[in-house]
Amino acid sequence: MKRRKFIQNASLSGIGIATATIAGACVKEEKEPAVVVPNEENARSLPIVIGTWNVTRATAKAWEMLQQGKSSLDAVEQGVMIEEADEKNQTVGKGGFPDRDGIVTLDACIMNNQGDYGAVVAMENITHAVSVARKVMDETPHVLLAGNGARQFAIEKGFKAEDLLTEASKKAWEKWKKKSEYKPIINIENHDTIGMLVMDKNGDISGACTTSGAAYKMRGRVGDSAIIGSGLFVDNEIGAATATGLGEEVLKTVGSFLIVELMRQGMSPQKACEEAIHRIVKKNKKYKDFQVGYIALNKKGEIGFYSIHKGFSCTVYQNEENKNVNSDFYNKTKD
Ligand code: ASP
Repeated sequence: MKRRKFIQNASLSGIGIATATIAGACVKEEKEPAVVVPNEENARSLPIVIGTWNVTRATAKAWEMLQQGKSSLDAVEQGVMIEEADEKNQTVGKGGFPDRDGIVTLDACIMNNQGDYGAVVAMENITHAVSVARKVMDETPHVLLAGNGARQFAIEKGFKAEDLLTEASKKAWEKWKKKSEYKPIINIENHDTIGMLVMDKNGDISGACTTSGAAYKMRGRVGDSAIIGSGLFVDNEIGAATATGLGEEVLKTVGSFLIVELMRQGMSPQKACEEAIHRIVKKNKKYKDFQVGYIALNKKGEIGFYSIHKGFSCTVYQNEENKNVNSDFYNKTKD
């Protein structure tokens, strides 16, 4: 590594610090939790797979696809499908938390290295929303299908309709209904929307983002995850970014597009993620009440990730190493 760069954190400085390197990134190990600030100057070896939160099974699947010579697009789709199928993950696909009426609705999108995009929003009954999004991209003249139309299209394409509300998510919803408090939950189970970015060995980038959205959202609510430029943006000339957290804030700042455009102007992925988070906290004084996290990579193979609050993490698969690493964050106050 040419240079080790640590973001110094006044409130944490003085705590016993050791340094280590994770896949070329710089790690500052505190007692809890270790925060990783990706090195800004170190071009990485290809391929690279990165995903929001602790999704090592999903990144492993994407990696396996790349090893089989599949495209970054196939890899990213198959990768996020792992989380969509996992009923224990209550923020994505089957088993996702329902809306306030008890109905699970999914938003997902996918983008390839040609700048093509496909998405579904507010879709019910189909586990693999990302694959429906891909079919929208590949097999229709449109880019975005919503609600019943998306479901109908999926069924026409051979997807199985099923009840996505599991007993566990139903129980959680029934408990929530007693108070019906409508507020964002920070780091819901430390696992949320999955956004994944893949750069294959040729340097071609694809991305996907899939979610069951904010838990107990209003019926019909659509978040950022499937909206191009907000939950995901890929520009194969520059890089890509994806988001997790309170979708309304990501939508208002068009976060993923912003990050890619900042990288186009020369910012590193890390600085661009930080700037996108700063835009949100500058505009919304209530930032202490909600989480947003971004991950990004650029054409040089550098990566970045950053969030408003502690608790966000990024999974990085590179150089045969598949690791989940804690993200640095903006809010260092204790309240
Ligand atoms: N971004 C998603 C949404 O707002 C949910 C999340 O990541 O928490 O729908």
